[in-house]
Amino acid sequence: MFNLNIQKNIPLAPLTTFKIGGPAKFFVEVSSEEELIEALQYARNNNLQFFVLGGGSNILVSDEGFDGLVIKIKFIEFNVDIEKNKITAGAGVPLSKVVRDSIANNLTGMEWAAGIPGTIGGAIRGNARAFGKNTGMTIESVSVLDINEMKEYVCAKEGCQFEYFGSIFKLKPNLIILSTIIKLEKGNKDKSWSEAMNIVKKRNVMHPQESSPGSFFLNPVVADEKLRIKFEKDTGKVLGDEKIPAGWLIEEAGLKGKRMGGVMVSEKHANFVVNLGEGKAQEVVMLASLIKMKVRDEFGVQLKEEIQYVGF
Ligand SMILES: Cc1cc2nc3c(=O)[nH]c(=O)nc-3n(C[C@H](O)[C@H](O)[C@H](O)COP(=O)(O)OP(=O)(O)OC[C@H]3O[C@@H](n4cnc5c(N)ncnc54)[C@H](O)[C@@H]3O)c2cc1C
Repeated sequence: MFNLNIQKNIPLAPLTTFKIGGPAKFFVEVSSEEELIEALQYARNNNLQFFVLGGGSNILVSDEGFDGLVIKIKFIEFNVDIEKNKITAGAGVPLSKVVRDSIANNLTGMEWAAGIPGTIGGAIRGNARAFGKNTGMTIESVSVLDINEMKEYVCAKEGCQFEYFGSIFKLKPNLIILSTIIKLEKGNKDKSWSEAMNIVKKRNVMHPQESSPGSFFLNPVVADEKLRIKFEKDTGKVLGDEKIPAGWLIEEAGLKGKRMGGVMVSEKHANFVVNLGEGKAQEVVMLASLIKMKVRDEFGVQLKEEIQYVGF
């Protein structure tokens, strides 16, 4: 027994980048696999549902909060093997640390992720991506706890089923990511820093600075050739694959700047719903419904959330 410090009624809003939502009925931080297992057993013994929290940068917590146990992953072991060009990182290590420390050690391959908040565990589950690169590209293996068996196993890259904003870990909620091995290439510190800085600059220009969970909707697959041609003509951009940016569809539907109480579709980037300060989850849900309805009515396209709803 590790005598976990299980706390009651812990506000979740400050633990998310959206800064919205009510409290967790029960809350615990775990920093080892043993503590995680104990927390899961606590949930099981007390008939509680549980939610695994990383950096809280891709979630919307309900105004009522979460009626169960929130387990905050604090696995922060971290090691750089310069000889083998590998990084071993606990699931709770901030993605920003992986970027920073890989560059500092003259390793290249993670620059694209500069400026993305959250943990490496969260990035693996959702296969976080930016500027044509994604998390799965550099993952060698992922250690997980299968909570059905309460057993740890190592999933090699091929078994991780990385896809557009997805992975086996997203498909199977019984898998909790414990740690990962990242395989990089030998690089040049100065070149990598300047690449990462350019990416951060681009993000600052493109993305709003207000509280948000990042992009709200996934870019949908659109077969309608007329719509695809219109996108390319209007933006001067060539569509690389079958997907059209959700932000463009939302803007075309006339919803940029649309406000619902304390939340708003960002004026800067229409796929960002931002919290103006006192935003409520209920307002976000209403605004998201409106966006989905309008985009469906105007373009026959069904948007799906990239963010995860918690406690709804
Ligand atoms: C300003 C801003 C910009 C962003 N830009 C990008 C971007 O460019 N590209 C991009 O892909 N994303 C972006 N995001 C979204 C977000 O940062 C990523 O999705 C991030 O990888 C989420 O990680 P997290 O640790 O915060 O996960 P959380 O938000 O804590 O959790 C997300 C989901 O992952 C699950 N999870 C977390 N840790 C684990 C674990 N160890 N095991 C199993 N499941 C787990 C949670 O249960 C939840 O379902 C942005 C967000 C913000 C606020």
